[in-house]
Amino acid sequence: MLELGKTGETNSKIFSATLLGSDRITPESSREEVRQLLFSTDDLDFAGMVGSCIRVHAPGQYGNRYHTRLYSLAEHDEVASGAKFALCVRRCSYIDDFNGEEYEGVASNYLCNLKPGSSIAFSGPVGYPFVVPDNPNADLLMIGMGTGVAPFRGLVREIYEKLGGWKGRVRLFHGARTGLELLYLNDANDDLASYFDEPTFKAFQAVSPRPALNMPIALDKALEQNAAEVWEIVSSPDSRVFVAGMAQMIETIDKAMANIAGSAQGWIAKRKELVAANRWFEVLY
Ligand SMILES: Cc1cc2nc3c(=O)[nH]c(=O)nc-3n(C[C@H](O)[C@H](O)[C@H](O)COP(=O)(O)OP(=O)(O)OC[C@H]3O[C@@H](n4cnc5c(N)ncnc54)[C@H](O)[C@@H]3O)c2cc1C
Repeated sequence: MLELGKTGETNSKIFSATLLGSDRITPESSREEVRQLLFSTDDLDFAGMVGSCIRVHAPGQYGNRYHTRLYSLAEHDEVASGAKFALCVRRCSYIDDFNGEEYEGVASNYLCNLKPGSSIAFSGPVGYPFVVPDNPNADLLMIGMGTGVAPFRGLVREIYEKLGGWKGRVRLFHGARTGLELLYLNDANDDLASYFDEPTFKAFQAVSPRPALNMPIALDKALEQNAAEVWEIVSSPDSRVFVAGMAQMIETIDKAMANIAGSAQGWIAKRKELVAANRWFEVLY
């Protein structure tokens, strides 16, 4: 997990960015509101990359000047005047255990309520970006849950649009609790579908078998159904594995990968090998 304080944050400068647009990317009928926010900054010092995060400084409450929260860069494009970048934000609320009242998450609601033309303050980048290897024959395995799929859409776009294609296998396993919460697959935002014709790209969706109970999504099943290929990919010499989303997904992935490897020890050894070779990237929250 990306630990605060050990996040690779090299620049504590506070930047400013202007909101260009805010689009809901879950259907109106979904109980989850996830929005994609597109920003532009004219500060040439900001060196973001897809997969790294920014620390948004939301206006504070109860006398606090700021309420800072991390958000992954779902897209990042350098332009002559600075950079354009996108965040994918889930509107959070929580029930206070003590009085049973529902409270709105501060930063996520601040971001989801922002109107185009407004500015945000942020610092970063924080964490380590999802780097595409130089070798276009390398296999890439991406496993994302909820808003964790956002940087993968950015990566897939980078591979097929900016780099002009990929020879290695690109496999995206992404999930949510219900079909209505899957991102980028609804009528207005079916961006991933643009790549289904690419011969090297395949995406596998997984939704929870019991969404009402907040059961973990069936990512394990999706991985295990493709066991032979998943194992070939993690074992191929120059492959990369990218994992992003809620922290509890790693347990599900570890269990599935242990089944695929034939034993927990077999998977632990393989994961250590991937980490040591800088072929394993994760952003968990
Ligand atoms: C590395 C990293 C990357 C991230 N990337 C993204 C991203 O791309 N998109 C995204 O949407 N989010 C992302 N997050 C999560 C994000 O940083 C925030 O944690 C999230 O948006 C909630 O912040 P908030 O200020 O809205 O809520 P807060 O006001 O901070 O509340 C946060 C949550 O904490 C819990 N909580 C807080 N206080 C209580 C309490 N008293 N009782 C019970 N529960 C409580 C609740 O679940 C609540 O929703 C990321 C987190 C990390 C660490």
